[in-house]
Amino acid sequence: MSPSVYLFSELDAVEQAVTDWGEVRGLLGGKGANLADMTRLGIPVPPGFTVTTEACNAYLAAGNELPPDVWPAIERCLAAIEVETGQGFGSADAPLLLSCRSGARFSMPGMMDTVLNIGLNAEITEALAARTSPSFAYDLYRRLLHMFGAVVLGVPDEAFEEAIAAARSDAGVSSDRQLSPNAWIALVETYHAIVREHAGRDVPEDPREQLREAVEAVFRSWNGRRAIDYRNAAGIDHGLGTAVNVQTMVFGNLGDESATGVCMSRSSTTGEPGLEGDYLEQAQGEDVVAGTRHTDSIEVLADRMPPIHTELSEIAQRLETHHRNMQDIEFTVERGKLWILQTRDGKRTAEAEVRIAVDMVEEGLIDRETALLRVSPKQVEVFLHPRLDPSAEAGAELATGIAVAPGAAVGQAVFDADRAEEMAKDGQAVVLVRPDTKPDDVHGMLAARGIVTSRGGRTSHAALVARQFGRPAVVGASDLEIDPAGGTMTVGDQTIAEGDWLSIDGSTGRIWAGRLDTVTPDLENPWLMKLLSWADETRRLGVRANADYPHDAERARHNGAEGIGLCRTEHMFFETDRLPLVQAMIMAADEVEREAALAQLLPLQRADFEGLFRAMDGLPVIIRLIDPPLHEFLPDHDELVGELADLKVHIQHHRSLAEIDETLAQIRIKQRFLDREEMLHEENPMLGTRGVRLGMILPGLVRMQVCAIFEAACTCVAEGVDVRPEVMIPLVSHVAELRSVQATVTEEARRVMDERGIDVDYLFGTMIEIPRAALTAAEIAGIAEFFSFGTNDLTQTTFGISRDDAEQGFLVQYLRDGILSTNPFETIDPEGVGELMAIATERGRSTRPDLEVGICGEHGGDPASIALCERLGLDYVSCSPFRIPVARLAAAQAVLRL
Ligand code: PEP
Ligand code: MG
Repeated sequence: MSPSVYLFSELDAVEQAVTDWGEVRGLLGGKGANLADMTRLGIPVPPGFTVTTEACNAYLAAGNELPPDVWPAIERCLAAIEVETGQGFGSADAPLLLSCRSGARFSMPGMMDTVLNIGLNAEITEALAARTSPSFAYDLYRRLLHMFGAVVLGVPDEAFEEAIAAARSDAGVSSDRQLSPNAWIALVETYHAIVREHAGRDVPEDPREQLREAVEAVFRSWNGRRAIDYRNAAGIDHGLGTAVNVQTMVFGNLGDESATGVCMSRSSTTGEPGLEGDYLEQAQGEDVVAGTRHTDSIEVLADRMPPIHTELSEIAQRLETHHRNMQDIEFTVERGKLWILQTRDGKRTAEAEVRIAVDMVEEGLIDRETALLRVSPKQVEVFLHPRLDPSAEAGAELATGIAVAPGAAVGQAVFDADRAEEMAKDGQAVVLVRPDTKPDDVHGMLAARGIVTSRGGRTSHAALVARQFGRPAVVGASDLEIDPAGGTMTVGDQTIAEGDWLSIDGSTGRIWAGRLDTVTPDLENPWLMKLLSWADETRRLGVRANADYPHDAERARHNGAEGIGLCRTEHMFFETDRLPLVQAMIMAADEVEREAALAQLLPLQRADFEGLFRAMDGLPVIIRLIDPPLHEFLPDHDELVGELADLKVHIQHHRSLAEIDETLAQIRIKQRFLDREEMLHEENPMLGTRGVRLGMILPGLVRMQVCAIFEAACTCVAEGVDVRPEVMIPLVSHVAELRSVQATVTEEARRVMDERGIDVDYLFGTMIEIPRAALTAAEIAGIAEFFSFGTNDLTQTTFGISRDDAEQGFLVQYLRDGILSTNPFETIDPEGVGELMAIATERGRSTRPDLEVGICGEHGGDPASIALCERLGLDYVSCSPFRIPVARLAAAQAVLRL
């Protein structure tokens, strides 16, 4: 049997007994392994020993009986420590004082707390008081009585806390440090009485008895209620057991040149090299953490105790090199001697994470792969958007919704898109608040700093537009009762009116009343740029952007996009100068009227495409022909009905013929809209006349769009731009549909190219967003030269759930109850949607081996979905311009983790 107790200095022996570092941690616990590891490195760790988890398990198995070899082994270690420290356990002249702590393999709450100052009793304390000071010695003793009483004997903490509070108030002082020696002596008596009253016994006077009881209490705490509950919740094996660490006490409050503190080996805020931290002279560890005294920065230590500062810097460096990570180090200085109590990987901001990862590669501490895996895509996202200042005082939090477009926005509440645009033009910062948004709100959304809706989910119109244009947004905040007509919203008993300030965090979905401070983004950060350049060298997947306008395309390219994966042409139709033309096209009484409206749209579309081609010179641009159902371009049905009713009431009060004529004209226009709308009405428009189906009944529209694409392409080619258009057809479910539009597209493209005398290389392809298209991909690839998975619709049609409604409705409950573990509109469902993608890719490539396959649904920017695309061997992912850097890193990580 291997020994049941090891000195911190016996790590070599431990390693002989086990096979790897995981087992060392298993045997000594995380904390014990760490202390032993530091000791072997030659770091000054106060000497001590670890009673193993095996000893714990043997103790518990024997019905809480210490195995016979344990105490003799502890005695051996005590003797070694006595020699090393020159102190004696139980000696009154030079007392060895010990701490006793639990330390399981995984750090877990619910385990026994620490007992400090084991080894003191009445006699030793008195002697110590004589040599140091009564307040020092009695303070230590009362801490032992408190901790031993609470932790080993189960006396409630409050009893001790009330007693010391009473002592302070009797003495008329505010801090323990001001208590007189007599007050301390009296307090110790009170503590003894408290222990006796609650436990019916005393804290042992014999130091060895104290230690033995403390060790056994740690073992028993493994089976305490809280510990068991935690292990059940965290899925930790109940059979692991805990180790016990017994360590020599060192004191940061003992005489001159004593201090205690915490430091990071590099800045946890910026990642800059050099120590960062706080310390306190004449203090104990908890004084630094409790924040009751004003701490000094580590730079002050450099002035006050230069050799200590130098030694600490060297140790920090050594620990960093050893762990190959930034370290968070606890230290104590006792009478001019530095001791290290603990080290662990330090918590840090996203900026610090990125800088440290890159710096460490350059310092040769880690390789690029480690750096790429260490930074999470979420941390990259932090660089891309304004954030709420973490130190900002938060006001009243109003509500929480679904976080759909990251970043923070602070502005005045506005409830109408036109008003938002007006106020923004006046230079005001606004947050647009709507129950939901429609295409004709887009100008207001663009003018706003941020967007809030009370309805809708991750793929709602508001979410889509917000992500695309990088506006922070929170949707589906159902606690908000928004009254757009009244220009107010209420939450509980609070009312927000137009002009009141709101702060929103699109990364967490939280909404506050008032003006919180923000920090501006920094994509030019040189460390991030370097990390992303390594990501580009590592990734296999291409990264393209979903962009509709030239300036988005430029931004996307600046962020590293390698082309456009989706241009939703219908978005261009919603612009204020175009909507009337689109409406005229829809309302046309005959082909002549329709062609006239289309002819007016043509130059506008052509100009858009020219801009896109120029911005993406040398890169592919996928242009998707019109997709949404036509009624989306017409005024809202219910509003029309209301307006018509108003006009009809109004007309009865008119006196002049001119007035009556004008109102009649308005009634006629609105009635025509209403009639057309009712004609176009469908119960399920998202499963109705949209996508390719629309193109089949309006071939003139397809021809106009294709003409605009190729006229723009020919113009750009003539200018010397390298143009690579890809024409994409949405919502195809049957190869015959695709064949039919292909004829129109090819014919029109040929006509324009012949007319211009320029040949443009282009691809013709389709979205795969209907399960039937995925299953019949072999046939479809006979015609399509590329596939792009529209995973928004593919998720919707595979699950048979409406993306516009589900995230507000049952999906919330599904996620809460664990019916689904993740939101399929956020991360691709691998077994269903992912399987259809696998089938489509394989069958498509069986027909056309060089078929280009990508994804352009919202999932294209989601790291887990990007990993799936890597596994399926797709060619690229396409996402909003603002997510490009995130996708670049995620695609590299996907390769490294494959
Ligand atoms: C999709 O369905 O995934 C897609 C990109 O198209 P849209 O969201 O425009 O329907
Ligand atoms: Mg779609």
